Amino acid sequence: MTHVTPAGDAPALAVENLRKTYSSGVEALKGVSLTVQPGDFFALLGPNGAGKSTLIGILSSLVNPTSGDARVFGISVHADRGGVMRQIGLVPQEINFNQFETPFEICVNVAGFYGIPRAIAKGRAEKYLNELRLWDKAFQATRMMSGGMKRRLMIARAMMNEPRLLILDEPTAGVDIEIRRSMWHFITGINRAGTTVILTTHYLEEAEQLCRNIAIIDHGEIIEDTSMRKLLGTLDVQTLVLDVTGLDGSVPALAGVKLTRIDGQTLEAEMPGSHNLNSLFAALTEHGITVTSMRNKTNRLEELFVRLVERGNGQGGKGRVAA
Ligand code: ADP
Repeated sequence: MTHVTPAGDAPALAVENLRKTYSSGVEALKGVSLTVQPGDFFALLGPNGAGKSTLIGILSSLVNPTSGDARVFGISVHADRGGVMRQIGLVPQEINFNQFETPFEICVNVAGFYGIPRAIAKGRAEKYLNELRLWDKAFQATRMMSGGMKRRLMIARAMMNEPRLLILDEPTAGVDIEIRRSMWHFITGINRAGTTVILTTHYLEEAEQLCRNIAIIDHGEIIEDTSMRKLLGTLDVQTLVLDVTGLDGSVPALAGVKLTRIDGQTLEAEMPGSHNLNSLFAALTEHGITVTSMRNKTNRLEELFVRLVERGNGQGGKGRVAA
């Protein structure tokens, strides 16, 4: 993959005080600033109506900003829309290709918009349809394909200009787990090869596993912008579910950990987020209890997300689950 670098070591994305007020008067973005470094796998999360699609729409020239700017590898959306478009691959939320065309035609035709010679376009279409396990469907009308195949086709299409920045807007909505895994296998592969990835998703477990950095947007404002590790580190309490053997008598009392017996093979351990797990295991071992597997009781990112968004709504408690 050869990339032209228009501005040396510019960030993959630099959003500067971006505002969007729709003609209806809705302020969808209220001065958003954000930086995504080259090579990052970045989560852009927020509840419905937060402004994610508006921001992505501005980056992909579908929406005009009211003020502020966004630069993709140093190229301003104001100064050079075409230049920005050449850097970006967009996988939109809605399936938006002509379902009477074949996957091969869809891929080759989109390459035409970028002025990519047809012979190169055909080679790329074969490569990406193969990598996304769609080659055996390449010459059939897409309306016959399953929802998961259509979503993978949108990824193949977004790769045709071999973008330096791939933006995925809810790419796995409604897709079953096996297809989702194959999609992530492809996307983590191109990220490892150097493509910057920005992901919006309602599956927070997916974001937690895949993304290194994260911004949360709510009511048109960035309310969190940090590394995934740091954000998860702010969780003050964690609850682990432990599958155990040797739980014969009563539950041992351990300092700093609240242990609850769920059944003869399961314990729940509630403790501060920073608690040393080695000491927990050592104490259990001393009591003849062996941990055979463990998991977080709830998804950690989801817990934080709900808290942050509720704080923004002034609810400060339970009620809304927004992702
Ligand atoms: P998200 O993608 O996070 O769900 P959106 O960017 O779609 O958020 O929406 C942000 C706000 O802007 C919402 O209040 C939404 O109703 C409003 N909005 C989005 N698109 C338009 C539009 N074309 N015209 C007017 N208001 C819009």
